[in-house]
Amino acid sequence: MQKYEALLDKLKIFEKMYDVMRIVDPLEKRVVEVSEDKFIKSDMVCYNYWNRNQLCNNCISIRAYKENDTFFKMEYKEGNIFMITAVPIEFQGNCLVIELIKNTSKNMVFGEGNSDCDSKTLTMIEYMNQVAIKDSLTGLYNRRYIDERLPAELLDASLKGEPLSVIFADIDFFKKINDTYGHSTGDLVLKEFAKELERFTRKDVDWVARFGGEEFLICLPETDLDTAKGLAENIRDRIEKKKFEVSGETINLTCSFGVHVVCEDNECKTVDGVIKLVDEHLYKAKNLGRNRVE
Ligand code: GH3
Ligand code: MG
Ligand code: MG
Repeated sequence: MQKYEALLDKLKIFEKMYDVMRIVDPLEKRVVEVSEDKFIKSDMVCYNYWNRNQLCNNCISIRAYKENDTFFKMEYKEGNIFMITAVPIEFQGNCLVIELIKNTSKNMVFGEGNSDCDSKTLTMIEYMNQVAIKDSLTGLYNRRYIDERLPAELLDASLKGEPLSVIFADIDFFKKINDTYGHSTGDLVLKEFAKELERFTRKDVDWVARFGGEEFLICLPETDLDTAKGLAENIRDRIEKKKFEVSGETINLTCSFGVHVVCEDNECKTVDGVIKLVDEHLYKAKNLGRNRVE
């Protein structure tokens, strides 16, 4: 027991490295609790943590146990990336495994890989990189990407002395589409809508992100206000004319747009400030009757 407590004490040093620490019996797939000086196998099945009700395909605790070595694994759950560390321990004749689990969605950075990696590893690293910054429904960038990328774009534009335009798009009366056709059809409309936005942007220069729900942000580096307004008007026109063919239905919709430019004679250069201003323009477009650019 002393040995066990000493071990726990040591692990406390690394508290910030994980969210959950637990001991598992990798053969019986049970979480083990410690009471007094005994290990007690609880009723808790270890893989239930992942909400799957089935064995993990690639259990690293059994591997740690069998090979008497520490193993690491990345796991994906409900939009988050977890890192699991499995450390084998032996106590009172029991071979058990300590699992350290950390939600690394906000903390993990993957390298670019190198030529020594096999293509499967590179694909996986690339996939993990994308998961962290992409919206799972539309495949567009996510809110985190906006928060991290927009400050860099603002700084870059300021250093180059170039204008940077931002378009905020919000689908009109989208709630009605859900109410009429159902939420899953609504999802498919959002996917199609996202593709349309991407079609109008320059590859490797502009980027489109899902701000949330049915709201999208388009970032246009080196673009002045007139050009950005023209682009928003073209998208508005395209969306108004497009027939969204999903789930056997033909759906028409419109969208409202707010456009804002950050340039040298424009004081506002913070992300919050830019989003506030572009949102105000969008609000105006909604108030003036929707299906318009402000
Ligand atoms: P407005 O013209 O004022 O923007 O009206 P609206 O109905 O578009 O706006 P409101 O904010 O009232 O409703 C937005 C709707 O978008 C409600 C919500 O259920 C729906 N929504 C948000 N995210 C998703 C999603 O991921 N999938 C689906 N299907 N619907 C979503
Ligand atoms: Mg909205
Ligand atoms: Mg809306």
